[in-house]
Amino acid sequence: MAFKVLILGGTGEGRELAQRLAGERYETLLSYAGRTANLLRPDTPHRVGGFGGVAGLAGFLREHGFGALVDATHPFAAQISRHAVEAAAHTRTPLLRLTRPLWTPEAGDRWLDVRDMEAAAEALGVAPRRVFLTIGRLEVAAFRRAPQHDYLLRAIDAFEHGLERARVILARGPFTHADERALLERERIELVVSKNAGTDATRAKLDAARELGIAVVMVARPPVPEAEETASLDGVLDWLAQRTP
Ligand code: NAP
Repeated sequence: MAFKVLILGGTGEGRELAQRLAGERYETLLSYAGRTANLLRPDTPHRVGGFGGVAGLAGFLREHGFGALVDATHPFAAQISRHAVEAAAHTRTPLLRLTRPLWTPEAGDRWLDVRDMEAAAEALGVAPRRVFLTIGRLEVAAFRRAPQHDYLLRAIDAFEHGLERARVILARGPFTHADERALLERERIELVVSKNAGTDATRAKLDAARELGIAVVMVARPPVPEAEETASLDGVLDWLAQRTP
């Protein structure tokens, strides 16, 4: 009988992991929150929607007899990562978190590290600036406290941002270096706000900002409870192999 693995996804890594495991001795189910109207459907088995908190996730793990849980969610999706830790403990399901390495500044980078979105909004300063707000759409409301800036937002789906001076471009990564550089220049961007997402798919904006001498307000990851972690898909495969009968 195949060994059942629930993968919490919503990221390129989650999708890639499900593909890597397909056809091996695993039966995977890739789970999406259902945030994007425009879901890029994988060709491996998947489900869409919340579980209904810790109890819902624990019930789901039990009901379907999953032998392992892999948290491959985005580093800023802290709630589901907390739920995963608790539900895994309640059901004694082995849990592994696939964690992306942090982005770190290199020579020439002008980064200002801040702890959260509120601090990022403050860090933009009093004088009006042209700001590329590359944080997705979920936490844009924090910037309503700084309405003097001209914001350029980028998201997968259109949304109500509630900002007075903002424009939205609809796009899905990965983004190339040349395109990011051209965008920053064309829009005369003076500041970039980014989450420390740590993925190659969206790193190009940081390299382009460095080349153009543009400062980046880098928002730290939210805290999540400790869990067993790996930084690579191979690490997940090894970990699963140790648990497979
Ligand atoms: P979140 O705040 O940690 O989670 C909020 C709720 O959404 C969870 O309590 C859970 O609902 C549901 N949920 C989240 N991920 C889920 C998953 N993979 N499968 C089923 N339910 C899930 O998450 P978020 O920041 O809103 O992000 C939502 C999803 O988008 C995540 O899966 C994440 O990987 C992806 N994503 C997030 C970001 C970001 O910047 N936050 C960026 C790119 C992709 P219940 O309590 O009802 O189970």
